[in-house]
Amino acid sequence: MPAKYHIHTEPAPPRVRPVGKLGIVDWREDCAGCHNCVKRGCVYGFYRDEADTLRGETGYLDYIYQCKGCLTCVQDCTKGILTRVMNPEYERLGDVYYTPEIVLSTWFQAETGRIPVSGAGYGGPFSGRGFDAMWTDMSEIVRPTRDGIHGREYINTSVDVGRKLAHLSFAESQLGVSPPPLVESPMPVMFDVVPPRWRRGKVVSSIARAAGEIGLLSVIRERDLPPGTS
Ligand code: SF4
Ligand code: SF4
Repeated sequence: MPAKYHIHTEPAPPRVRPVGKLGIVDWREDCAGCHNCVKRGCVYGFYRDEADTLRGETGYLDYIYQCKGCLTCVQDCTKGILTRVMNPEYERLGDVYYTPEIVLSTWFQAETGRIPVSGAGYGGPFSGRGFDAMWTDMSEIVRPTRDGIHGREYINTSVDVGRKLAHLSFAESQLGVSPPPLVESPMPVMFDVVPPRWRRGKVVSSIARAAGEIGLLSVIRERDLPPGTS
């Protein structure tokens, strides 16, 4: 059995602030100024982060839209003045194929190297009027054996690239034919040639190094090979 395949990742902080999905609209004129305001209880620190970002800004306020959509503050505000809203900039991301959700989850993966977590609103058949749009998925708890992601189960992802013999033949209990050469790839992924417009800076050498480190194939020009790779 081949060794367990693992890709080592490291966080890569974004160069620009990610586009957030959800924010909170606050109708402040009705605020009762409660001693234990629900805003302080946001476990994600949304209100503190937004206040830090907007402090000193005048005119256009660039809201961060980093609410995680748990609805705790919306439901517990004593005057009901908080409303969760969708960021209009988020809705304009991508196109009909690459939806805003796909763009944002790919962005998250690129930054953190982690598996994207989807959520913040269940859109299946049990949603809409009368439902709270929350969905709890217990699959990892009831099916712990079907888990190749966290390493509790071995799932082989390798593929053989090359021709195979239609049948085998033997002579005196020995294989009588020579099988054609095979290349084994730990994952069915191959990095294609980088288009000319992206061949700048460290793009090509980074892809070549990544392919070399995780044992995948990449198609690059010989002169772009970083030292120590082949
Ligand atoms: S809980 Fe609601 S009403 Fe009370 S201070 Fe906070 S925002 Fe204002
Ligand atoms: S809905 Fe949840 S995550 Fe969003 S601001 Fe309120 S408490 Fe924080």
